[in-house]
Amino acid sequence: MVGQIPNWIGGQERTALSSEWFDKLNPHNGELLSRVARSRLDDVAQAVEAAKCAQPAWADTPAVQRGLILHKIVVAMQQRQADIARVVHLETGKSYKDAFGETGGAIQLGLFYASEGQRLYGRTTTSGVVNKTVMTIRQPVGVAGLIVPANTPIANVAWKVFPALICGNACVLKAAEDTPATAHIFAEIAHSAGLPAGVLNIIQGYGEEAGAPLIEHPDVGVISFTGSTFVGKLIAATAAKRLAKVSLELGGKNPLVVCDDADLENAVKWALLSAFSNAGQRCASGSRIIVFDSIYDRFREMMIERANRLKVGSGDDDDFGPVISEEQLNGMIAAIERARQRGAAILTGGCRLTDPGHERGFYLAPTLIENIDPHDEVSESELFGPIAVLYRVKDFAEALALANDSPYGLTACIHTRSLQRAIEFTHKVQAGVAVVNAGTYGSEPHMPFGGLKQSGNGTREPGTEALDIYSNLKSIAINQ
Ligand code: NAD
Repeated sequence: MVGQIPNWIGGQERTALSSEWFDKLNPHNGELLSRVARSRLDDVAQAVEAAKCAQPAWADTPAVQRGLILHKIVVAMQQRQADIARVVHLETGKSYKDAFGETGGAIQLGLFYASEGQRLYGRTTTSGVVNKTVMTIRQPVGVAGLIVPANTPIANVAWKVFPALICGNACVLKAAEDTPATAHIFAEIAHSAGLPAGVLNIIQGYGEEAGAPLIEHPDVGVISFTGSTFVGKLIAATAAKRLAKVSLELGGKNPLVVCDDADLENAVKWALLSAFSNAGQRCASGSRIIVFDSIYDRFREMMIERANRLKVGSGDDDDFGPVISEEQLNGMIAAIERARQRGAAILTGGCRLTDPGHERGFYLAPTLIENIDPHDEVSESELFGPIAVLYRVKDFAEALALANDSPYGLTACIHTRSLQRAIEFTHKVQAGVAVVNAGTYGSEPHMPFGGLKQSGNGTREPGTEALDIYSNLKSIAINQ
């Protein structure tokens, strides 16, 4: 697949105006995968202009017709699911099987929004004035600026592009620099399936060079960002200066509580999946595992034993793959080392895998840590890798308090057989998503997802809730 990944503007491939490229490496073996257009402000301006020109005709296309075009994209994605999955597999290092599953999720999401073309409801309601009819209608915002991370790349693109398009916006998506070809193949498929030129534009490049100008551009009416809390705050500050609408889906440090009445086998299974699936590169990963004192030692032994049996690699038989880049890997190892120096016990992992098969890839062994303060760096900052911390608590009240003692509030899970504990936890935990007896993740296309505190700015995507981000409501009054 070594080749060049250009921008996609106005329905065509375009190299960056600077003619510069940067290298994208394969996380599994460190080899060069592709050379990627290094875009800057002028390229972004071209893409926004293309979107601005295409948007009025797209907005005038009835929503039902827009939905039919989205449905054609969905069908084309189904036909090319294997091609998309292969690109995701190569760019992320996750197994082909997981990449295929992720692509299936993106297709499901597209199907949901294609159907929403028949349901872009407003409201009709009563008025206090005689002979007056009042209603609301949804209208597109205009140009949507979309910025995504690399962790689940095809799902991330689908989560933003499909709802933005069904609402009648034209999009400029800044692809994640670590998964450029995934965004490119999506645009190419969408265009071939009948999406008019200019309605979806893809800009490749680095965040500060290609993402920031998109946020600053006065013609971008709505910004939807998924990524780190640090960058999310920068984006919020920039968008605030021109009062642009902004949706922020940010980081998490998600608690998974294991009570003394839990089904321990089930709890261990889900704790491992929550901590390590997708190499822990999930905003919803279960990175804080909070366990009742009376079962702590048994649970810890089971976790260590199972974590040591996990297969790490890029094949379909492996449990999880590499992290996305060497820079990310080195950051994780440094954070673990600092924790060790402060007295943390590294129960398993904590180091790069260098044995044959892993030696050139960006692989971190599954890492479990204990004996660390709830306000330590590794307790409070998102490491975005296969790393989880175990905490010992005496009872439910302490578990709930510790679950909530975090700057983040994205997802949370409890393992218990008690209905009373389950209900109290789901109601009182400070998170946008609360789960009983499974993992800290598990979003569905029709369900709103998003977080509290540092995990977002209160918006929810996907579901019908995302329509509120990508459309404006207009109140209409007709007096007879
Ligand atoms: P990141 O914030 O570094 O980058 C995300 C995207 O933002 C990339 O495309 C990057 O190029 C761009 N970017 C970086 N700096 C920018 C700037 N100054 N202006 C505009 N754009 C900029 O995040 P990452 O490390 O690539 O991704 C991991 C993060 O994403 C984690 O924090 C994770 O929790 C979060 N995430 C959140 C969700 C959610 O739904 N809440 C889902 C997936 C990932």
